[in-house]
Amino acid sequence: MSPPAGRGPAFEIKSRIVHANTVTVPRSRYPIKPPKGLTASDLRLPKFIRREDMMKLLSGTQKNNPAKLASVHGLVTAELAVTFPDIDKQWQRSTGAQNRVSWRFLGGDLVLEVTITVHVLEDDRPLDKDGLSQKLFAVIWEHELLHVLDDIEIVRDWLPEQVRQDEWTRRYLVDVQELPDPTFNHYIRQDNLTSWFRDGPWLGERNRRAGIRDSAANYADVSDAINGIRAEMTNR
Ligand SMILES: [Zn+2]
Repeated sequence: MSPPAGRGPAFEIKSRIVHANTVTVPRSRYPIKPPKGLTASDLRLPKFIRREDMMKLLSGTQKNNPAKLASVHGLVTAELAVTFPDIDKQWQRSTGAQNRVSWRFLGGDLVLEVTITVHVLEDDRPLDKDGLSQKLFAVIWEHELLHVLDDIEIVRDWLPEQVRQDEWTRRYLVDVQELPDPTFNHYIRQDNLTSWFRDGPWLGERNRRAGIRDSAANYADVSDAINGIRAEMTNR
């Protein structure tokens, strides 16, 4: 039975948050105040990386501010994936005139998944029985957790509505227009649907929120705290 005119099949946009950092850290372990909105399970020990690897990660990001490059202690990276969990059941193949193959959406889930990784410089790793190094780490980590919260909220609270209102979604999932085979391959099999949403709404919003977290004033506060603790460490 075909769906009523103008109404597509039932589908749900689901969000999934994945932390690439695997070890959860008890909140009381370091002197941090995690931002409201994060759960205990969102507090993961960052990956500690060498300075040259940090530089490599930074050169791959959009905002390439050389003044900041030299002084970055932590970085949150995120990867977005937009997928149909069961393509073969969710899309129906049909053959029309002159054996033209096309695909029509049948319904089910569209999953928005973000994989989040927190990186901190190896030099800023907290050492056992070294209160100052733990304090230093805490300042850096606490700042990075703001970016983690942003990455979670974007995919959980903000992106689903963007995807729902998107032109591609309306055309192929709501109005169930047929996708010619090459277009289907491009978007679904070759995963360019991810690029469509990543380079479209997601990246812009992510950069916008990062710009606020790393505004000159906020960044100066973190920098000052780090420099203060570093000075204490040098003078002890
Ligand atoms: Zn930041």
